Amino acid sequence: MERLVLFDIDGTLIRSRDGYIAFNEAIRKTFGVEGDIRAVIPDGNTDPLIVKDILGQLAMDVKISENQWCDFSATLRECYDDHLCRGTMRIQSLPGAVELLAALSADRRFVSTVVTGNFESTAEVKLMAAGLARYLCRGAYASDSSHRPDLPAIARRRCEELNRSSFSNERCVIVGDTPKDLDAARQSGMKCILVGTGRYPVEELLHWQPDGCVADLSDTEAMIALLSEI
Ligand SMILES: [Mg+2]
Repeated sequence: MERLVLFDIDGTLIRSRDGYIAFNEAIRKTFGVEGDIRAVIPDGNTDPLIVKDILGQLAMDVKISENQWCDFSATLRECYDDHLCRGTMRIQSLPGAVELLAALSADRRFVSTVVTGNFESTAEVKLMAAGLARYLCRGAYASDSSHRPDLPAIARRRCEELNRSSFSNERCVIVGDTPKDLDAARQSGMKCILVGTGRYPVEELLHWQPDGCVADLSDTEAMIALLSEI
């Protein structure tokens, strides 16, 4: 029977270098203020909540209309595209991510997707830049909900429609790098493997008692065994 693997993006599959420049530029262009993503802890959060944290630090009213969110996500995508093109931002896949996703896509026992705090349009830019997009089904994004625990069920439903099959929650495994990924898994009744390639080292992640915990994704065989067993 198939398993659905729901990957977080930032800190799990990829790392962005100097992504703050594009993010801060999109804040300035959309809201007309000088916010700084480096002044907040974005890890595990969704982009709308990160923006609210940044604007909150500037003591701004954080009521943002639907149109402003559309403007922000479109502008952020343009800024990412521009900075990636100019080489002022870089995105690299994390160790073993390409190999693991390629192996999972060739293995009929697995379907892979994403659950991410990025907007769908910006997730696409990042996954394309890292060479990972081809291996992943459409998942769930901050453009679906800013509340991360809402996202796993949305991704599962989309993958069920696409693959014309159903995945019970116990056959769904979230792979992430923060306690927020684990919380979303727990609230969704899904399993969770945490990876120590983000802000938190393995020793800290183990404290949260995930179903599995690895330093990185580099051992493809071990990861596939873990995903099959938990
Ligand atoms: Mg992450």
